[in-house]
Amino acid sequence: MTGVDDLPVRDELRGQSPYGAPQLDVPVRLNTNENPHPLPEALVRRVAERVAEAARDLNRYPDREALALRTELAAYLTRSTGVGIQAAGVWAANGSNEVIQQLLQAFGGPGRSALGFDPTYSMHPLISRGTGTRWISGPRNADFTIDTEAAVAALHEHAPEVLFVCSPNNPTGTAVAPETVVALHDAAQAAQAARGGRGALVVVDEAYAEFSHQPSLLPLLAGRPTLVVTRTMSKAFGAAGLRLGYLAADPAVVDAVRIVRLPYHLSAVTQATALAALEFAEPLLAAVEELKSERDRIVAELRAAGLDVTDSDANFVQFGRFDDVPAVWRRLLDHGVLVRDNGVPGRLRVSAGTRRENDAFLDAMRAVLKETAAEETTGITPTKETNQ
Ligand SMILES: *Cc1c(COP(=O)(O)O)cnc(C)c1O
Repeated sequence: MTGVDDLPVRDELRGQSPYGAPQLDVPVRLNTNENPHPLPEALVRRVAERVAEAARDLNRYPDREALALRTELAAYLTRSTGVGIQAAGVWAANGSNEVIQQLLQAFGGPGRSALGFDPTYSMHPLISRGTGTRWISGPRNADFTIDTEAAVAALHEHAPEVLFVCSPNNPTGTAVAPETVVALHDAAQAAQAARGGRGALVVVDEAYAEFSHQPSLLPLLAGRPTLVVTRTMSKAFGAAGLRLGYLAADPAVVDAVRIVRLPYHLSAVTQATALAALEFAEPLLAAVEELKSERDRIVAELRAAGLDVTDSDANFVQFGRFDDVPAVWRRLLDHGVLVRDNGVPGRLRVSAGTRRENDAFLDAMRAVLKETAAEETTGITPTKETNQ
């Protein structure tokens, strides 16, 4: 049988695996940070209306610049953060993953590097490699916060062309303070300037901003033309299936991205569906408050069960520590609950679901702790198994 490595693929792709969060059919799926609530019926009907309207023009290519959608996204950002954002400074694509890919196509690429602070969102290194951009793993403290001094030192050492700051960070849930982002941004510019470069692009990935205890980092855009904030409708908006991500930045960054984007990348159906969802922004985001309190409850109950839980500003919680992470993951699955092993030593991650799903997870976790404690006293240790 022919394998990928038998093909004449690019050298840097040899031995790599695709993004692979398991899509298993189990009763409680809390592994991909989706919003657990289906869209309201009124929105489903509105999507059907707007898509029907768009369908009448499907013989034509869609608006290449997605201007109506960018205008509504800008209005949403302005409304929800109080920061005045214009359509010219907003760009949209098929998920923020595509936004990030376009940014790397324009600002990364062969001979260039991107730095992020591991553990972080696995797609940042994956998309970097896919665009020929060298990935540099930056440091974090033991509590998963960013050590500004060590981070600034890494920036001066490597002088990357692109810097990723994920806030709140996936998979740890850690928010990054605005003064830290400013320090990293300034260091990244200085490191590039010292080598004769024009500066570095700083990508603040705010996929989970709506869940944070901390306000958005959007106010930092003013006066910083190489700072970008990326957002998504996959999490708080509850529309992961829509595939709509966007960015806010200086209009010059948008112009740079427009050079590399495929023409008509955002289908008329996607644009119509996203516009319908934006009409329902306020009711959709009302559910976020409930998810935040469920997130806080998961943190409190896991701590009460004696686990080590990382503070979370997102719609998920990182917890541990386990000697044998795959075994705990497998046991939770045996109890009908799918969580995520992100490869962080000793830790697992659970997304905040509905109250019922979270109860099921917490019951399963307490049962697993009891089982393992009982087996340890009888000398039976959990078996080693592998998973993603
Ligand atoms: C989920 C997630 C995204 C969203 O990606 P989409 O392509 O918009 O679905 C982006 N960044 C981070 C850190 C995420 O966890």
